[in-house]
Amino acid sequence: KAKSKGKNNFQYYSPDMNQRAKERVKVETKLRYAIKNSDLQLYYQPQYNIDNAKMTGMEALIRWEDKELGMVSPKDFIPLAEETGMIIEIGDWVINSACHQGKVWHDQGFNDLNLGVNLSVRQFFDPNLVDKIKSAIETSQFDPNFLELEITETAMMHDTEGAMKIINEIKSMGIKISLDDFGTGYSSLVHLKLFPVDMLKIDQVFIRNADLNGRDGAIISSMIDMCHKLNIKAVAEGVETIESLSFLKDNRCHFAQGFFFSPPIPVEKFEDLLYCSN
Ligand code: C2E
Ligand code: MG
Ligand code: MG
Ligand code: MG
Repeated sequence: KAKSKGKNNFQYYSPDMNQRAKERVKVETKLRYAIKNSDLQLYYQPQYNIDNAKMTGMEALIRWEDKELGMVSPKDFIPLAEETGMIIEIGDWVINSACHQGKVWHDQGFNDLNLGVNLSVRQFFDPNLVDKIKSAIETSQFDPNFLELEITETAMMHDTEGAMKIINEIKSMGIKISLDDFGTGYSSLVHLKLFPVDMLKIDQVFIRNADLNGRDGAIISSMIDMCHKLNIKAVAEGVETIESLSFLKDNRCHFAQGFFFSPPIPVEKFEDLLYCSN
């Protein structure tokens, strides 16, 4: 194909590109194997009510540890999985596995904890998504009123009408919708205008290393104000310092998540956290 573009199109044949393409195929093959071999796992990061410092729930975050590549960040393999379609299989596993774990924790007596699960664009528009969610709920017996599906603005912007239909179906099951990475996507406010989301997750670019007395602080507090006016819960991501936490508290942000409390951790560690703090 590249050849037909003529001899001058040498960038198609640069050794660097070739190398990268090979690298990609290798990662892709390994990821396929990891799915089959159950080498993926979920970590969980706790979320807290800023007012009373109580844990209110957790977000499931996928991890892939490869013998040769080490820990591969979801930032690197989720886009690849998305392009190749592998995300469907991965996403099915994530929702089932997270609901199962959520049920275990609820049964252990932590039955007021919310469970956040990320959905990628392709998963969101999977025609079987709603059925798959129903089946995950049925199989796990996890109470859907405690499930929060996190979607990004990019997902909604693809097809607003389709997105609306899916969101309404999901919400009719009692499940909540979070708008993830808020503020970094494309025409954010339009999505808030259009979609009945329950929660808004303020992206960490606004919170981490924020100049709280300057522009960053003004933007954060305005986003929180907007949430109050829209009757939406505000969740701050990337809370790393006591300063940012107290700023968020002063500005009436509802929930916080970040390294200040805990990074995402495996199930056993999460249970230590549950049993020692409650
Ligand atoms: P996200 O959904 O916005 O998840 C929050 C990310 O911020 C996580 O990165 C988390 O580890 C990180 N984080 C949380 N608090 C802090 C903090 O205080 N400081 C810093 N520096 N980082 C913090 P992670 O786990 O690497 O995930 C990256 C992204 O990959 C997620 O962003 C999400 O978009 C995607 N992802 C992760 N798991 C899944 C999954 O199961 N399914 C799908 N579709 N996407 C996933
Ligand atoms: Mg998320
Ligand atoms: Mg986010
Ligand atoms: Mg993010």
